[in-house]
Amino acid sequence: MGKVGVPDAFFQGFAEKWSEMFRRNQSLVHVDMSHNNLKVVDCEIMAEGLKQNHKVLGLHFQGNYGDIDKQGFLHSGIPKKIGEEAQIVRMQSKLKGGIVQDSRCLELSVHSNCWVCEGWSEVRFLYTPGKSDNIPNHDVFIPINLHLEFEHYTPDLMLACEDNEKVYECYRMLPPGKHKYYYSIGGDIRVAKD
Ligand SMILES: [Zn+2]
Repeated sequence: MGKVGVPDAFFQGFAEKWSEMFRRNQSLVHVDMSHNNLKVVDCEIMAEGLKQNHKVLGLHFQGNYGDIDKQGFLHSGIPKKIGEEAQIVRMQSKLKGGIVQDSRCLELSVHSNCWVCEGWSEVRFLYTPGKSDNIPNHDVFIPINLHLEFEHYTPDLMLACEDNEKVYECYRMLPPGKHKYYYSIGGDIRVAKD
């Protein structure tokens, strides 16, 4: 038995149950797990389930020993943050897609990485060797990467389209606002002509 009024599940197998739910979930899209004091090991277990989830668009996770990155993945071991982030990390009562209301939050780059609350939208990036640049004979073994400013230009591998292998694509969720980006081929920076 757990403590009075608290289900046993909270103490034993809590992370396992959530991990399994994330793995199997076909309906839940917006989850608030913030400030549950989840430990590193719990975050690791949940992260595994979440990797296989393609339904959840918004997960609030501040106040635990883990954090959500801009691609929606959970990473364990990041210390709990308190203070200013706690002000806005909870789900908002009224969702306003595409609009970030609080300019101070924008200035501080304080965010929850919740795609739902922050009004993120999906963008398809395309790069076509020979059209985006002057080199039509692209060596398929040389990687083409997308570099987004809001991810500090960390490379994100682009893959050949299924229906046209000469076109490379990458789908990304982006927060509202203007974004700077560039492409690279084998490490050489390219700004697409198209
Ligand atoms: Zn949210």
